[in-house]
Amino acid sequence: MKAFISVDMEGVVGTTTWSECEKGDKPYEEFRRRMAREAAEACRGALEAGAKDILVRDAHDSDANLPIDALPAPTRLLRGKTGHPFQMMSGIDETFDAAAFVGYHARAGSDANPLAHTMSLRTRLIELNGEPLSEFRLNALTAASVGVPAVFTSGDEFVCEEARAFDPKMRVAPVKRGFGAATLNLHPDEADALIREQAREAFRNAGDVAPATLPDEFEIKFRFVDKRRAYRYSFYPGAKLEDAETVAFATDDWFDVVRIVMFLT
Ligand SMILES: [Zn+2]
Repeated sequence: MKAFISVDMEGVVGTTTWSECEKGDKPYEEFRRRMAREAAEACRGALEAGAKDILVRDAHDSDANLPIDALPAPTRLLRGKTGHPFQMMSGIDETFDAAAFVGYHARAGSDANPLAHTMSLRTRLIELNGEPLSEFRLNALTAASVGVPAVFTSGDEFVCEEARAFDPKMRVAPVKRGFGAATLNLHPDEADALIREQAREAFRNAGDVAPATLPDEFEIKFRFVDKRRAYRYSFYPGAKLEDAETVAFATDDWFDVVRIVMFLT
């Protein structure tokens, strides 16, 4: 079994402020270790479920956060900006059996995590076919676009609920809840155990989960914080300015969606 694990930081135990998530800031080192710990537990779960090949995609900010010796063997780590529109899912292809998300978080427009956003802080909301878009949904649909089912999600309670609604067979490990500028967190040891156990069950039963069905057509709308950015990006080929802060784009090809997300956010 071949497993793909995308790892973010704003949904791991503890992270509550941006300085805890930004390389170079003092609190970052502590939370980078936390991110690595949760990624490692998900890998252990996958290995216990029989995974023979695990690709971990470091998927936060610089995409180079996880210490290279933090993960159990045999795992391969993809770090750094690839420049490919799959971004947080770079490295996935049709040879994988299942995809998992670790440290994921509430989407732009949500108040369920003080660090809620979708891809960057440039948009206050992104909508796909009329529904608010999270990094989770973007990336789960990217996995589906290459025929890979999404089986496990850890992160804040909001994203875990979203993941269960996306696919009732999804295994989840909610490790924190946000409100206002605060987060309420599980003890790290409990979070580790929960992630490992749920990841193990998810990968063990991956064969029972079908890849999500992609809609035939996609309409994506980006509502920008800065109206000047909306005007500028309305010149992206095929895009149009819907109102002063909103750029809209329609296509029937998922790759067009991930491409415009890469260039506009
Ligand atoms: Zn992140």
